[in-house]
Amino acid sequence: MSTSSEIKYICPYCGREMTITIYQTVNADTDPDLREACMSGDIFRHSCPHCHTDFMVQNPLVYSDPSHKFVLYVSENPVSGIADFAGPLVRSGYRLRRCESVRAFTEKIQIFEDGMDDVAVELAKYDSFIEFIDNRKGRPEDVTSVEYQRVFDGVMKINIRTDDKGLTFHIPVGMLEEEIEEDKERYEVNDEDFPCVNSDWIISLFTEPAGNGVQN
Ligand SMILES: [Zn+2]
Repeated sequence: MSTSSEIKYICPYCGREMTITIYQTVNADTDPDLREACMSGDIFRHSCPHCHTDFMVQNPLVYSDPSHKFVLYVSENPVSGIADFAGPLVRSGYRLRRCESVRAFTEKIQIFEDGMDDVAVELAKYDSFIEFIDNRKGRPEDVTSVEYQRVFDGVMKINIRTDDKGLTFHIPVGMLEEEIEEDKERYEVNDEDFPCVNSDWIISLFTEPAGNGVQN
C-alpha cells in the first residue's frame, strides 16, 4: 500500500495557495501506476492551478519494491527514524539505498529492476569516465552526465554525455564482478545505513586515504 497526504502549498511562482498531494510511501507491487509516476519523476511534479506553472517538490519518499526486494529512500538528508525497520528487511534479502536526487532515484529503480548490482554499475560508470578522460575524448569538466543504460547479453552499457556529444561504453558484467570480488572489502556497503551508492561514493573509495586523513 502507498500513502499520501494533501498539504497546503504556496506556489513558488505566483505566491498563491493551493493543495497538493505528497506521497510518503510508494509500493511498486500494489500501485504500478505510482511506480510509473516515480520513473517519470511525475510523482514530485505539481502544477499551480492559478498560474499553471509546473514545479517540483522533492519531498522525502520511501519507495518499496517487494518483488525485486529493494527499498529506496529519496531524500537529500541521511535517514532518521526509519532505521528501525532496516534490520529485518536486510535480513530478508532487501537492498536499502538512499537517493539524493530524482535522477538518481529513477536510475536506481532501473538498475534494481534489471537485477543488477548497483555497486557494479557505479564501478562501470567510474571506469567509463576514466577511460573517457584517458583516451582524451574530452575533459572532465565537459562531462554533463554518466548514466547507466542497460544490460544486454552480459554487457553493461554506460552513456557518457557532454554538451555536444554522447559516447557509449560497453563493459562485460563478468569483468566488473571479478573486479569487485578481488577487492571485496573496499566495495562493501552496509544496507542498514541506507547508503548512497553513487558517483561520490565510488570516488571516495579511490581517493580517501585509508589511514590518517591529515592534510598539511
Ligand atoms: Zn502559481
